[in-house]
Amino acid sequence: MAEFSGIVVYRKDYRERDMLVKILTDRFGFKMFFIRGARKKGFRLSAAILPFTKATYIGTINDEGLSFISAVKDSSQYQTICQDIILNAYSAYILGLAEAAFNDNRPLNEWYIKIEKAISLINDGLDPAIVTNIIEIQLLGRFGVKPNLRDCVICHKSVGIYDFSESYGGLLCQNHWHLDSHRLQLDRRTIYFLRFFSQVDIMRLGSIRVKKDTKDKLRLTLNQIYNNDVGVNIKAKKFLDDIKKWPHIVLNDDR
Ligand SMILES: [Zn+2]
Repeated sequence: MAEFSGIVVYRKDYRERDMLVKILTDRFGFKMFFIRGARKKGFRLSAAILPFTKATYIGTINDEGLSFISAVKDSSQYQTICQDIILNAYSAYILGLAEAAFNDNRPLNEWYIKIEKAISLINDGLDPAIVTNIIEIQLLGRFGVKPNLRDCVICHKSVGIYDFSESYGGLLCQNHWHLDSHRLQLDRRTIYFLRFFSQVDIMRLGSIRVKKDTKDKLRLTLNQIYNNDVGVNIKAKKFLDDIKKWPHIVLNDDR
């Protein structure tokens, strides 16, 4: 028996009365749990296996295959996220990205508290697009993509006006823009936030405001990097992309 903390990522019905529940655990990474009787009315652990629940679980962890939960202590749900379809999608995307970056059965180490922090920041009202951007940029290394956002990839000048080059894998200073005619043509503000997000400590992140226009450019830039250099397919991301096409009156804000 092991005691561990975890966040419920998703669940699916299994057989007639059971469920499979994917939980991101602090010590064992992403694990799939077999929950016997989970679909029965009045199931005693039902609150602890709802999506976006955080809890301390006691159970049997198997290195491969399914694991089991026998008891739960102090479970709580990320309430704001549960009540908002968009916050829900951002959080699901962050968890999906982490799952793609680490796969099952591999401890996330310091990434566990970062992901947990990202989810709780979104739950507490921080801009979900920004929190997501930070996780996306900082997770790139886990996908083997490490763009140089510190200085010019050619001359290593660290102050000046930059653009981002995918083919050179990072920043190009103005003197070297001629090397890449396909550079992303980003403005200074977007470059500033790309650099900032790549180094900011999410554990210390306070409030942060970014203009709508810059947020759109950051989104496009990260889409480009993720589509061309990472190539993961996450369901919640597709949903987020689709939301952008909904009329604003439905969303009632500029997310
Ligand atoms: Zn340069």
